[in-house]
Order: sequence, then structure tokens, then C-alpha cells
Amino acid sequence: MGFDVTPELQAKIDTVREFVRTELYPLEPQFLTRPFTELLPTIAELRKKVAAMGMLASHMPTDIGGGGLHFLEFARISEELGKSPIGLLVFNSQAPDAGNMELMYKHVTPEQRERFLRPLVAGEVRSAFTMTEPGHAGSNPVDMSVTAVKDGDHYVINGRKWFSTAIENAGFAIAMTVTNPKAPPHQRASMFFVPLPHPGLKILRKISVMGETGHDFFCHCEIEYDNCRVPATDMLGGEGQAFRLAQDRLGPGRIHHCMRWIGICERALDMMVERARTRKLGHDRVLGDMQSVQNWIAESRAEIDAARLLVLNAAEAIEKKGAQNARVEISCIKIFVPQVLMKVIDRAIQTHGAMGMTDDTILSWWYRHERGSRIYDGPDEVHKVVIARALLKEHALKERG
Ligand SMILES: Cc1cc2nc3c(=O)[nH]c(=O)nc-3n(C[C@H](O)[C@H](O)[C@H](O)COP(=O)(O)OP(=O)(O)OC[C@H]3O[C@@H](n4cnc5c(N)ncnc54)[C@H](O)[C@@H]3O)c2cc1C
Repeated sequence: MGFDVTPELQAKIDTVREFVRTELYPLEPQFLTRPFTELLPTIAELRKKVAAMGMLASHMPTDIGGGGLHFLEFARISEELGKSPIGLLVFNSQAPDAGNMELMYKHVTPEQRERFLRPLVAGEVRSAFTMTEPGHAGSNPVDMSVTAVKDGDHYVINGRKWFSTAIENAGFAIAMTVTNPKAPPHQRASMFFVPLPHPGLKILRKISVMGETGHDFFCHCEIEYDNCRVPATDMLGGEGQAFRLAQDRLGPGRIHHCMRWIGICERALDMMVERARTRKLGHDRVLGDMQSVQNWIAESRAEIDAARLLVLNAAEAIEKKGAQNARVEISCIKIFVPQVLMKVIDRAIQTHGAMGMTDDTILSWWYRHERGSRIYDGPDEVHKVVIARALLKEHALKERG
């Protein structure tokens, strides 16, 4: 499909854009000023509408109850959903669930498929992915302390994780654990399903992030596995396969994140232009007459378009040669798009002046919460290493003929 949009896909994009504008934008004042849990009944109602449109978990195949969009098609939908902070959640395509669904679809047993995957795709439960630990650098996840030790036909998990996003009120967690500390680094770990609530999994605290502890889906927790017993049959994938499986979460997932960020950029630019057009500086001038504001608008337009083309290029590379061989293209978008995102949001805030700092618009929420885009799914610096190493190796190979 490449960069083209078919008429059928365009119709879907238009429908989603209108839904986000008319159903989700009006919820923002409540989202910004009230506890998120108060919005849950509304979100449940909206999900019924989305299900009726056949677009719940539209990134997932139809045989498991998803909408059956190809990942390049879903990338375009993701841009539209990104324009609202609850867009992906209402369409049941939010992180970490979307990545978990994709990972599970490939690796679950038939029994796990019915018990864990189907209810997740149907939006009946949410999930968490618990990999990062407070005591180890998440950038090098082979270094982990949480263990799962075999005890008869069960495993017993012990240790601490943090930044377990959305684990509050989730239906299950996926635990990344060391099962064989003596194995080569990339074969030490295995994944397990942990149904929640579980007496062996304690939420120690909701971490305050950029001034907010959040609730339910919008929270990041520090947790403790404390003699958490799970049946051996609840292992996800094979023993020692966790790192290989974790990689599966990251290829198309990064495309979706980047397209969501482009959606945020488009919305922020829209708000910037509208403010510049209407904010009077005197009786005969508006902000948009000022050249510095015009520069922000023009530079944002060019950078967002460049970012989108780069992401579609990476998506096409995944399509043609697989995620593993498209690592450079994927790392390029993972460093480039967050930079554009942060710049565009910053300019939009500047254009709004003091109002940009308030929660009267969605901009300050994005400014706080999207800073993480340069850290999760691999910090900028790690992706730069990937790109540079690949180019250096390519040149060395050329020299050797
Ligand atoms: C909003 C948010 C949500 C998250 N959700 C989850 C979740 O649901 N589940 C989960 O398991 N984890 C989650 N994480 C954790 C995330 O995966 C880690 O933060 C990430 O992997 C980086 O690990 P770290 O924080 O330990 O940083 P570290 O690994 O300690 O790195 C710190 C800094 O060092 C630099 N650095 C690291 N490696 C290199 C290198 N090789 N070369 C040069 N510089 C380097 C980078 O600047 C990096 O930012 C989330 C994080 C955030 C911010």
C-alpha cells in the first residue's frame, strides 16, 4: 500500500477524524480537571459505538475479534486517534495493550488465547507489561533481578518492577523474569501471565510523574512480585524466549507511536494557527502578523510533513524487509519524531502565552506527558547507537570488499 490511501481507507480516516472531533474533544475539560476514573463510564459507552463501527482493536486480525486493518492502514488511523489523549484508549488500541495483543497473537497457546487474548481484544480487560526495574538500566534489559523459580508445576516470581504503566485495575500483567541466570544473556528470561488481582503482586505506589500520580489507565506503578505463584502453563512463549518476544512488541509498535505523535503535532499546529489568527495584539494586528509566529507555523508544517514521510518510509521498509532488517529506519523515526513533537508543542504553548501553561487547553498536558517519548521504547541515545553502528559496519564491509 505504501504512501497511498485507498478510498476505503480514506473513508475510515474521515469517520475516525469526525468521531474524535465531535465525541472526544468535548471531554477534554473534564479529562484535564477531574480524576480520570470519573470518565470511565463515558469511555465504556463510547467503546460500544466504536464496536458498532467495527473499529475496536482495529489493528488486530478479525479471527480474534479485531478490526483487521493492515499495520500501514492502522498507522493512518493512529494519527487521527492521537489527536485526543483518550483516542487510542476509546478504540482499544492503546499502549501497552496494543503491543501486548500483537505479541500474544503470535505466541499464545490455544488456552491462553481464549483466557487472556480474546477478552483483551474485546476490551473487556486491560493489561500491563512489567519489564523495567528500578535497580537496573532499562536500556539494557538483559540486566534484571526479578526471578521466576520452578516449584513443581508452578513458578514463583519475586522482585520489584517499576513504570508498570496502567497496571491499576488491569485484568492481567505480563511479567518478564529471569528463569535461568546461567544461560547466555539473551536466553535468561521468560514471560508469564499474572492474572490480576493476585495475592503475590502488590502495587507499592503510583509514581508521581511530572506532578501527577494519575489513575487507572493513566498511571505508572512501582510493584512487587512477592512469592507470586503462577502455573507453569501460564508461561508466554517458551522458556528463555522473553527477549525474542519483547522485540516483537517493538517494530510496528514504534510506527503506531510515531503516527500518534504526528496526530498530536497536527492538533497542536491547528491550535497554534487558530490562536495566531484570532489573538489581537491591538486594534489592527493579530499574533499571526508577527514574523516569529509565522516562522513557528511554517517550520512546524515542514517538520511534521517530513516526520510523516519518514515514518511511512520506515513502515514501508518493515513491510518489504521485516522489522529486524528495518532497524535503522525504525531507529531514525524513534529519534526524529519525538524531537518534532516536543518542538511543535512548545511553539504552540508559546503562541498561547500564559494560556498555554494552563489546563484550559490540552497543550500543557501533552508537554508534560509526551516528554517520555524520548525515553520509552528505547531512549534517543540508544537508537542513535543503532543507526551509527549499522552505518559504520556497512562502511567497514565495503572497505573489505
Ligand atoms: C511514560 C513511560 C512509560 C513506561 N512504561 C513502561 C511499561 O509499561 N513497562 C515497562 O516495563 N517499562 C516502562 N517504561 C520504562 C522504559 O521502558 C524505560 O524508562 C526505558 O527502557 C529506559 O530505561 P531507564 O529509565 O532505566 O533508563 P536508563 O537505562 O537508566 O538510561 C538513562 C539514560 O541513559 C542514557 N543511555 C542509556 N543507554 C545508553 C547508551 N547505550 N548510550 C548512550 N546513552 C545511553 C539515555 O539518555 C537514557 O535516557 C516506561 C517509561 C516511561 C517514561
